[in-house]
Amino acid sequence: MFNRDEFITEMEWKRFREFSKDFATPNIVVDLRRIKKSYVQLKDSFPYANIYYAVKANPGVPVLKLLDSLGSSFDIASRYELDKVLALGISADRTSYGNTIKKSEDIKYFYEKGVRMFATDSKDDLKNIAKFAPGSRVYVRILVENSVTADWPLSRKFGCHPDMAYDLLVQARDLGLTPYGISFHVGSQQRDIGQWNDAIAKTKYLFASLEEEEGIKLTMINMGGGFPAHYMQATNELSEYASEITRYLRDDFGEDVPMIVLEPGRSLVGDSGILTSEVVLISRKNNTALNRWVYLDAGKFNGLIETLDESIKYPVITDKDGGKEGSVIIAGPTCDSMDIMYEDEKYKLPIELKSGDKVYWLSTGAYTSTYASVAFNGFPPIKTYFMGENGLEEDKIS
Ligand SMILES: *Cc1c(COP(=O)(O)O)cnc(C)c1O
Repeated sequence: MFNRDEFITEMEWKRFREFSKDFATPNIVVDLRRIKKSYVQLKDSFPYANIYYAVKANPGVPVLKLLDSLGSSFDIASRYELDKVLALGISADRTSYGNTIKKSEDIKYFYEKGVRMFATDSKDDLKNIAKFAPGSRVYVRILVENSVTADWPLSRKFGCHPDMAYDLLVQARDLGLTPYGISFHVGSQQRDIGQWNDAIAKTKYLFASLEEEEGIKLTMINMGGGFPAHYMQATNELSEYASEITRYLRDDFGEDVPMIVLEPGRSLVGDSGILTSEVVLISRKNNTALNRWVYLDAGKFNGLIETLDESIKYPVITDKDGGKEGSVIIAGPTCDSMDIMYEDEKYKLPIELKSGDKVYWLSTGAYTSTYASVAFNGFPPIKTYFMGENGLEEDKIS
């Protein structure tokens, strides 16, 4: 049902097959060359932007090292991510603390480690930043509406109304912090480019009113992530996103475009991953049922959590593609009936598919490897292998 060539080149596929032939399933192979390609493409598309990779998307050491070598900065959400990034010799001034939900002791920790850029969206958090990270730059995340056209929305939980953002930035100045800018995230895998237009317009209003009424001149716009990886549902190409978003910025800010930060996660690493699973069992629920149930050794609790509500629709291929296909329900191996990946979405797999065959999940480089349960039903977390220019790269800090 999927054409492999739309997602991966013949060369990349061959390299993957050779590299992964002896690995037990389930596993994820991350092709570092593909990440490099995505980074270069993003940089070319947004030459004026500063890139802060959202570490949570794939925190593998080889990924962080590669992006470090390409000049990326890092958006960090916890002290554990911070420790990992700093242990690689990346300096704290190339990181920001982008999580608006943090303990005061964590703010203190980040400050002690040298981090001076903090996101916020609430009064109490701002007060904590003023107290435990005095003098730092703060940017305020605004709420944007994005639940319909983003396949994995990041709305509601983060951000505040622009009126409140205004107050927070005034308060930040009064507390001795540096009011630095505005951030937003239009939702991950955002298919509607127009969402950036609305967010940029709100941002422009805040820049203008804060300057006019309070004499506060903000420096930066953090436009978050939201850029697409390649899944089943079509999106525009990145170049289309870039030209539209650049035009929105020019329309609102003219020649005076502020410093732009991007925090890509999914678009940088998503396409780099292939999750290999094995068919455990294929069955039908009655003798004449049209649908087969295909149970795999990977599932919602082991790398495929973003199939929750069938949100992300991964391209799924097998070695038997090309012949006759039939509708399937695809499920994982655990004893939880939630562990079903696709049921409403009618995936088709070859009639010839048998237990022991491999099923490959393409574009699984983002939000998979660390998004797995520790040992639900005893199954260990899925293993990830990083494929570099010269073969396997170790996921550890040397
Ligand atoms: C998760 C996250 C990102 C990355 O978003 P993608 O859609 O994966 O690019 C960026 N910024 C923040 C604050 C995030 O939480």
